[in-house]
Amino acid sequence: MALRLFDSLTKTVRPFDVAEPPIARVYGCGPTIYGRAHIGNFRTFIAYDVLHRYLEWKGFEPHFVLNLTDVDDKTIKGAADAGVSLEAFTTPHEHSFLADADTLGMRPFLTTPRATAHVDEMVRWIERLEDKGLAYLADDGSVYFRIAAFEKYGQLSGNRADGESGRSRIDSDEYDKDDVRDFVLWKAARDVDRQVGAVWPSPWGEGRPGWHLECSVLSIGALGDTLDLHLGGEDLLFPHHENEIAQSEGATGKTFARAWMHTKHLRVEGQKMSKSLGNVYTIPELVERGHAPAAIRHLLVSAQYRKDLNFTFDGLEGSARAVQRLEALHRRLHDETTAEPGQPEVGLAEITRTALADFETALDDDLNTSGALAALFVFLRDVNAALDGSGGRAASAELATARDALASMDRVFGLLELALADTQVDDDLASWVEDMIAQRKQAREDRDWGRADAIRDELTERGIVLEDTAQGTRWKQG
Ligand code: AMP
Ligand code: ZN
Repeated sequence: MALRLFDSLTKTVRPFDVAEPPIARVYGCGPTIYGRAHIGNFRTFIAYDVLHRYLEWKGFEPHFVLNLTDVDDKTIKGAADAGVSLEAFTTPHEHSFLADADTLGMRPFLTTPRATAHVDEMVRWIERLEDKGLAYLADDGSVYFRIAAFEKYGQLSGNRADGESGRSRIDSDEYDKDDVRDFVLWKAARDVDRQVGAVWPSPWGEGRPGWHLECSVLSIGALGDTLDLHLGGEDLLFPHHENEIAQSEGATGKTFARAWMHTKHLRVEGQKMSKSLGNVYTIPELVERGHAPAAIRHLLVSAQYRKDLNFTFDGLEGSARAVQRLEALHRRLHDETTAEPGQPEVGLAEITRTALADFETALDDDLNTSGALAALFVFLRDVNAALDGSGGRAASAELATARDALASMDRVFGLLELALADTQVDDDLASWVEDMIAQRKQAREDRDWGRADAIRDELTERGIVLEDTAQGTRWKQG
């Protein structure tokens, strides 16, 4: 069976194919590193991650690139407000994004290039566009893309950019263009840009690259002229992606991306996310409130990427229970069930075959994650029922088949992987603490008070509080 995806360019669901199998060259628009990414951003990034994992599952070799937008109006304003350089301002946000991605079990990317590390290439790209008559320097010292000279403009959005689309996200500070539709490739330096160090030399004077150009140059630089798939949130389709196509195809004369995928925006408690509503949650905030990363991840994959998804705290509780049921099944298949060579089969092989087929059919159908989760939970229900009926005994071969299937489906969803990693950390910590307590007891018996105190201090530093009782030493995480 072949993976089929909705391609926003042709507006059809069609087979996903790549130029050079098994490599899949995929580029996703990444975060603007001016603040902590929120749960909405992570709906999009987790959709990228499920795609990434499913491509691997299907035997592709994903070359997956995600950019970090570190120079644009928002990062410059953030740095200026904080009174620090652009680099000093954005670096912690880069680290926090990568940390959150890790918390949610995202696969590492091939690379996560920062725009500011590639400004020279961007300057050369503008020169190529100038040579082709597609770029011009305006009186304000900025360089613009001449949309009228690019016949194919509008192929993705159907929008010739002569009016503003409701979904559009347009730069606010473009100054002196020949045509209102034209967009900026190089922005002449302003005082605030100089103040934060967001200026680079160019043949047109000091300035900085435009946001749209960053993605064309970073994607092509990392993956070549033609991508197999370009991803982004739905708000980026116009003008950002339309402009990426114009800049890329205008310079190379080749197809920029063979297919486009756009994720639908997340809503929170039924509403659009906004600071004024106080519903813009970050991953650490949710974890701090006691929500497990695996539950957050479950909620984010519970609807297909093009469908509405409403993040609610009730939903998150439901997701936590779903993950617990998966963990319980995992334990049952590994620890609690007796594998007996002579045992008659209890039907796990058949249950597994059906589940895997339904799972793959759902994901092949435009990454229908809710359908695939349904297949996984039918598997869970049926395996439990079969084991309940046999008093927890099964033939070892069918048991192995069921265990492998659970692990295989989880390679795409990454839920057990996260949940079990959490318990693993706890187990490791517990055995380390027990060991330290035993050493401290020994030190006290040896009347080595210095050593005993040092051990207690080390534990305190790791947030472990000891309580000496008549029954021995108890501990808890403070
Ligand atoms: P930004 O950091 O604003 O550049 O956004 C990074 C990515 O997150 C882009 O692909 C956006 O389309 C996406 N995004 C922003 N808000 C949401 C949301 N509420 N739901 C899903 N994706 C979003
Ligand atoms: Zn982009």
